[in-house]
Amino acid sequence: MKNVRLLYFSRASREMSLADLKDILETARSNNADLGVCGMLCYDKRYFLQALEGERSQVNELYLDIADDPRHDEITIISYSEIDKPLFSEWKMGYSGSSATFSKLLAKLGQHEFQPDAMSQKETLVFLHHMSKQQTEV
Ligand code: FAD
Repeated sequence: MKNVRLLYFSRASREMSLADLKDILETARSNNADLGVCGMLCYDKRYFLQALEGERSQVNELYLDIADDPRHDEITIISYSEIDKPLFSEWKMGYSGSSATFSKLLAKLGQHEFQPDAMSQKETLVFLHHMSKQQTEV
């Protein structure tokens, strides 16, 4: 059984309310528990950035479902790799939105607003990992 990590970013089709995010996360946490998938989601204004980790076929299938979701579009895979150990195993789907730490981390990457399309593979993983330690309650 091969485990993989898939990172992607996408553009939200509209500004997400707290209720929208709750809905996404409740579904994600319940489904991911059944699929043995874990990960981390970041969202601010226009963009989503997400890591999915788990067994290859489960991650692949889930990604196709997520990519079909009309709440976002322009979905772009950043990286897809086999992993020995998951980085996000504590969370069925962790979440972080905008916060002081979020902005500080963006500033370190030279960004005034969240633009995962301008980040490298390494930067997106570091960003998600860092924010998984500073999650937003939803
Ligand atoms: P259903 O809930 O019946 O969905 C049927 C269809 O309707 C799907 O195409 C779904 O995309 C769409 N849909 C559902 N709710 C809404 C809504 N409020 N507005 C518009 N369309 C809607 N799911 C996971 O299981 N794990 C994840 O990690 C995960 N991450 C996500 C990250 C993002 C950024 C987004 C936008 C969604 C995410 N989802 C995740 C939700 C995922 O896209 C599907 O909604 C979910 O897998 C359930 O789909 P379903 O076909 O089983 O069931």
